[in-house]
Amino acid sequence: MSIIFCQACGKKISDKSTLCSHCGFQRGEVTEEQFAQFKLRKARDEIYRWNMASYAVITAFVAGFGWYWWESDGYRQATSSGPFIVMAVSALAYIIVRAFLFQAKRKLKLLRQAVS
Ligand SMILES: [Zn+2]
Repeated sequence: MSIIFCQACGKKISDKSTLCSHCGFQRGEVTEEQFAQFKLRKARDEIYRWNMASYAVITAFVAGFGWYWWESDGYRQATSSGPFIVMAVSALAYIIVRAFLFQAKRKLKLLRQAVS
């Protein structure tokens, strides 16, 4: 057994395994077309993950707002800083997630252009 590098992600894998344990790339006889399709699928998976992350972040923001609403007794009382911290952190995280999502979408677009 020896260590080789995955064609798709460049990480170290065993030459005995047919699937890359890091990215799931099928080793062996791969045409350019299959490789391009694989990269497209990876790019779509990445967009899916960032979309899920953005939903999670939105949920955290709504939860922070709900906490504020509940603790302030319908805006009538001052609250602790907890809800504001949750809202601020999730708003910041949302911007970061959107930036990654934008990058992932641009990557997919470039890959699509390369295929066609
Ligand atoms: Zn790999």
